[in-house]
Amino acid sequence: MEFNKDLGIQQVAFTEKTNYKNFPMVPRVIFGKGSFDQLGDILLPKRKHSDAPFIFLVDDVFEGKELANRIPLLFNDQIIFISADEEPKTSQVDALVEMIRKEYSELPSGIVGIGGGTLMDLAKAVSILLTNRGGSSEYQGWDLVNKPSVYHVGIPTISGTGAEVSRTTVLLGPEKKLGINSDFTTFDQVVLDPDLTQGVSKEQWFYTGMDCFIHCIESLDGTYLNAFSQSYGEKALELCKEVYLGDISEEESREKLMMASWHGGMSIAYSQVGVAHAMSYGLGYVLGVRHGIGNCLVFQHLQEFYPEGVALFKEMQNKHGIIMPKGICSNLSDEQFDIMVSVSLAMGPLWENALGTSWREIITAEKLQAIYRKI
Ligand code: NAD
Ligand code: ZN
Repeated sequence: MEFNKDLGIQQVAFTEKTNYKNFPMVPRVIFGKGSFDQLGDILLPKRKHSDAPFIFLVDDVFEGKELANRIPLLFNDQIIFISADEEPKTSQVDALVEMIRKEYSELPSGIVGIGGGTLMDLAKAVSILLTNRGGSSEYQGWDLVNKPSVYHVGIPTISGTGAEVSRTTVLLGPEKKLGINSDFTTFDQVVLDPDLTQGVSKEQWFYTGMDCFIHCIESLDGTYLNAFSQSYGEKALELCKEVYLGDISEEESREKLMMASWHGGMSIAYSQVGVAHAMSYGLGYVLGVRHGIGNCLVFQHLQEFYPEGVALFKEMQNKHGIIMPKGICSNLSDEQFDIMVSVSLAMGPLWENALGTSWREIITAEKLQAIYRKI
């Protein structure tokens, strides 16, 4: 009797305990101007043998450029140039994995992604699917990956998404746009060389950088905020302000934005994003609008939720003369609006972070549609 009672009490205590995330971090990172040239030395001890290559997935914007010639190829290593014009798809990941399996009798020594969020996400997903059977869409979700991935390295060439630190790879699948969130997704090594971001166009620099800014605002204004997320979020926000509103050199700006991206990613890793991301997902799903610009298109209309953040955003936009497209949603059918709204409302944790547990009473389908109609 006594024993059972004790056990009962213990069980209650256990179920009431908060289930804290045990979040994996990137175990190795190198930072600095020109650090890319150390890649050969970094990869050398990870080479299993001469038949197990390194596969470099590289944004095709670098095809024929100096950076491609600096990739430290050895033995049967291979560079695969990939366009970042469209966001990564599960079918693309599956095709790459099949190609690598057919071409090599051995598992590669590693996969290296060189580019923005698109190429880094592809590298993460390919490294997972090389060791886990089936198609990549089967792993979209939370903690569905069973086996450790192949060693994988992320090398950002544009700053903002935080994909270099996150435990997810966002993929567009046949049924949904969703990440493979797992402990095996996180990179084993990241190379942060600010010089690699030099060729980015001004608009893209703004849109991808604002992804980081919006990560900070949504994390810092969210109900999931805690000291861990706050410490990273505040630093990232300070760096974004220096980059987009301060008066610093281009070189310093590249370095600071790279670190802002890292810290912004760490901040949301232990909290969550909010309204802009939830709505941007709907925009991306129905219209194929890309992550960075989608967030900006939505964020400009979110004064009600993030008054200070939106005011800062507009100041940054004006300072850099960024003119965003208009009328994106002007010709949508009612059915398309309904899909957009339902994709967005399905992002429960994002809404809960933004508006609290009673978010359903605050944000209705009509209200969401009214905001979408402004875009
Ligand atoms: P991107 O990889 O889509 O690239 C954007 C554009 O910039 C492309 O045209 C690309 O060719 C170009 N580019 C990149 N580096 C360049 C350089 N140095 N010089 C010239 N051009 C360059 O951009 P992104 O905004 O970094 O990534 C968006 C993707 O990241 C989306 O697919 C999104 O879903 C994903 N994402 C992932 C996470 C995550 O945690 N895994 C987080 C946020 C976003
Ligand atoms: Zn984002």
